[in-house]
Amino acid sequence: MDCIFCKIANGEIPATKVYEDDTVLAFNDLEPQAPSHILVIPKAHIASAADITPENSAVISHIFEVIAKIAKDNNFNDGFRVVNNCGDSAGQTVKHIHFHLMAGRDFTWPAG
Ligand code: 5GP
Ligand code: ZN
Repeated sequence: MDCIFCKIANGEIPATKVYEDDTVLAFNDLEPQAPSHILVIPKAHIASAADITPENSAVISHIFEVIAKIAKDNNFNDGFRVVNNCGDSAGQTVKHIHFHLMAGRDFTWPAG
C-alpha cells in the first residue's frame, strides 16, 4: 500500500521521532503549525477515525496514554491541543489515522 505514514512507521521514510513503542509512533510534523507539532500514529494502518472498530480501538486508547506521556515529558504545562482530521471536508490529507499534538502557543476556538 502506498501510504506515507506506513512508510514512516516501517522506516522507509525518515522522520524525527519523539516516541516509539511496539504499536505507536510519534514524530515531528514536517510543516509545524505550532512551536511543538507532533503527529501520533498507530504503526498498523487504520485509514481514519471513521474506521475505528472494537477490533482495532485498543491502540487508539494507547495513543492517548502516549499523548499524556509526551505532554508530561515535554512540559506542555500550559495546555496542548489534540486534533484529528477525518475525511476530505475536515482536511485529512494523509489517509492513515493520526493525531496532531500541538503546544507552545495559544489556540483559538472554535477551530476554523
Ligand atoms: P492532515 O492534513 O491529514 O490532518 O495532516 C497531515 C499532516 O502530515 C500535515 O500536518 C503534514 O504537514 C504532515 N506530513 C505530510 N507528509 C509528511 C511527511 O512526510 N513527514 C512528516 N513528518 N509529516 C508529514
Ligand atoms: Zn498507512
